[in-house]
Amino acid sequence: MTHSDQIQQNPLLRKLKIQGYRLTKVRQFIVDLLANSQAPVSLSEIKENLTRNNIRADRTTIYREVIFLKGKKMICEIPVGGSKRGYKVCQDVHHHHLICVRCNKVEPMVFKKPLLSQENEISQRKDFKVLDHLLEFYGLCGDCQ
Ligand SMILES: [Zn+2]
Ligand SMILES: [Zn+2]
Ligand SMILES: [Zn+2]
Repeated sequence: MTHSDQIQQNPLLRKLKIQGYRLTKVRQFIVDLLANSQAPVSLSEIKENLTRNNIRADRTTIYREVIFLKGKKMICEIPVGGSKRGYKVCQDVHHHHLICVRCNKVEPMVFKKPLLSQENEISQRKDFKVLDHLLEFYGLCGDCQ
């Protein structure tokens, strides 16, 4: 696959390119890797994959890249259990994750009804102004049940 084919095929890379961001080899590789993986990919796994493909990048570079993509709301940081964190391409809408504890597959979930009414209730009952929330679901996916 040529360089431009690769960009054409990945909508996130196209988006970054249109927005005028530089598509370095490392950036392209990470976006492709995360877009093509069902389970969240950790920083060490990203590093391993880069090394396997003869692309040199230190941990700081990889971390900076991940923070950049997270800031662009292109990827999510997903707590896969304990202190482990993985990264995954998600949609740019407010969503939660269904995380399979056996195979680590992650499915994004958008609530039909936002949690706003709950947040209002908290504000009233607890005198606590909610600014944001984190909510993930852990369980077994269809394949693992
Ligand atoms: Zn997500
Ligand atoms: Zn929510
Ligand atoms: Zn599973």
